Amino acid sequence: MGEFDLIRQVFQPVAEATASPLLPLGLGDDCAVQIVEPGSQLVFSIDTLVEGVHFPLNYNPVFLGWRSLAIATSDLAAMGADPVCFTLALTLPDAKPDWLTGFAQGMRQAAQAFGLTLAGGDTTRGPLTISIQAHGTVPAGSALTRSGASAGDLVCVSGTLGDAAAALLWLDSDNDSCDVQWLLSRYHHPQPRLSLGQTLRGRATAAIDISDGLRADLQHILTASAVGARIDARKLPLSAPLQVLAPDRALELALSGGDDYELCFTLPPTEWAGLERVSAVDRVTVIGEVLPEPGLWCRDANGDRCVAAGGYDHFGGGACR
Ligand code: ADP
Ligand code: MG
Repeated sequence: MGEFDLIRQVFQPVAEATASPLLPLGLGDDCAVQIVEPGSQLVFSIDTLVEGVHFPLNYNPVFLGWRSLAIATSDLAAMGADPVCFTLALTLPDAKPDWLTGFAQGMRQAAQAFGLTLAGGDTTRGPLTISIQAHGTVPAGSALTRSGASAGDLVCVSGTLGDAAAALLWLDSDNDSCDVQWLLSRYHHPQPRLSLGQTLRGRATAAIDISDGLRADLQHILTASAVGARIDARKLPLSAPLQVLAPDRALELALSGGDDYELCFTLPPTEWAGLERVSAVDRVTVIGEVLPEPGLWCRDANGDRCVAAGGYDHFGGGACR
């Protein structure tokens, strides 16, 4: 398949299936044209996935199509944005029709589920690499950022933590138990928390999506906000399958495992009541509180231990102060 046949046969149908009035000109020209309504701001980011680094060699293309768009969309969720469209830069070693059909199928399912139009892209030959730029909008001035947390805020997370990292242990296994399959679905089919992010606009003081693990991502909020936090290990939301399949490692995976794409956010206690409806749907848990001094502490039955130093050096470890 040549480059132009590939675009016409594989990606044009995805663009047509996801067309939106906010894109009067989509795939097919030198650029796409996006309408940004007066009073709205454009929110956008780009993510790159490299085979063998960000996903396994010979990974299922249907999963890859979903997963790469879900990961890009999770950043929109973390900003509280309404999703609009995305562009896809695809680098491929060769154009295998079956692989491309599967990839486009997974991507189309995700695009339709999240409400995103495929607006265009770029296709080149080389080691398998997927870059996706996702666009969303927010009412002017309402994007959620990492920098607004203040002492006394609640630290909250959605969903359960550590599942996707645990799934990596079973990626090649033929264990078809419900628990293993459920964990695997958490890795293969991340569900960006778009509606939760939108609900948090005007309520949360800071937000981030958990791509690199709670410890690292919460620390980004703390650093950007120049505060610290204490979380309670006994409150970390652990799924039943994780506790069954990795009882000894569940807590460490929940703290440090990546790829869950849940939201971590800070919230003034007075805002908690307004979250009741979404907090059930998105399984929001209060896991701790923001402290005035830098440092990230984790409390368990043995007391407080430092899990991340304050300041900018995440590799330092050791004491919090
Ligand atoms: P240009 O040379 O002007 O950059 P291209 O020939 O690369 O344009 O692409 C032709 C059209 O196909 C453009 O509208 C572009 O956005 C779209 N396109 C190319 N590759 C992809 C892709 N992988 N996914 C979606 N759209 C694509
Ligand atoms: Mg051009």
